[in-house]
Amino acid sequence: MTDEATRLLEEITALSHEFGTTDHVLGGGGNTSCKTTDTLWIKPSGTRLSGLTPEAFVAVDADRLSGLYRMEIPPDASAREEAVKQAMLAAVRPGAAGRPSVETPLHAVLDGRFVVHTHATLVNGLTCAHGGADACEKLFPEALWTPYTDPGFTLCVDVRRRVEAYTAARGRAPRLLILENHGIFVSGDSAEEIRTRFAAVMDHLREAYRQAGVPITLRPSAPPAGAAVADAVARIRTALGAPAAEVVHAPPCRAAEGPLTPDHIVYARSFFHHGPISAESVAAFAKKRGYPPRVFVAPEGLFAADVNPRTARLALDLALDGALVVQLADAFGGVRYLDDRARAFIENWEVESYRQKQAG
Ligand SMILES: [Zn+2]
Repeated sequence: MTDEATRLLEEITALSHEFGTTDHVLGGGGNTSCKTTDTLWIKPSGTRLSGLTPEAFVAVDADRLSGLYRMEIPPDASAREEAVKQAMLAAVRPGAAGRPSVETPLHAVLDGRFVVHTHATLVNGLTCAHGGADACEKLFPEALWTPYTDPGFTLCVDVRRRVEAYTAARGRAPRLLILENHGIFVSGDSAEEIRTRFAAVMDHLREAYRQAGVPITLRPSAPPAGAAVADAVARIRTALGAPAAEVVHAPPCRAAEGPLTPDHIVYARSFFHHGPISAESVAAFAKKRGYPPRVFVAPEGLFAADVNPRTARLALDLALDGALVVQLADAFGGVRYLDDRARAFIENWEVESYRQKQAG
């Protein structure tokens, strides 16, 4: 490895740790990369930003990666993602242990030696709002806003087209990409440039929330219900049985009433059980949705249940993050949920289930 590559990998590792905190990503969300003219190093799929080491990054041949965009792509979604997955694996340089993130081709499209992608809560208060696009144009005129697109290769192709149009119109490539109901990409030629750009975005957003009178920490909707919590946990256990081996909870809050982003769907499921909890209400939910609830929004508080303690904890974290997104979106015209088609795509997505397996 050249001295330049070693230095780039050290710097992207430091950035991954800085932006791998819970206000930027949860679970295996987000990804980072660095590049030279012939190689792109990307976070492996299913790993966490906070735990990355320089050796963990997957080295991908830049030429073969850009060849993806010239490939004959099958129209069917699962055939398409499979073809892209195989082509991406073929572009991986020997010696890498992991599989490149599904967003790797998108990192290749962005100019800049470093790219950091997160699902920051303060950003998603904007991306998950009805007025998100308008507010983005006012707050960040230099940003490239992208309307919601299915993740995976469809998103990469869409962003590539938008980046080309932006570059042609403005004479320079975008360094800030904001994705509706998803998150943010920041690119730059130095780690310092990434830090400065991110800090400016967060400062602008904090100021916008302040002006709108929206607090940036979660407002509880009622005081914790004390002893009633144990009773609610018992009712969840009775209704779900063994799958509720682990039940975690938080004080009552105004939780999401639909799917916000792919990560929220993957970790907390698209819909929560709302209202008082009983065996009948849980059975009715399962019948309507086709799966048992993982998150419960009850008068006693917010609950998450799963056979795996880490899955339960992550589901609660995503539900709390989603509640804050709902609150923040008030600053930009109110929350915008994903529609049924977008939701179904994520629910059926093989790549996401792979990631969930890795992270869980
Ligand atoms: Zn993402």
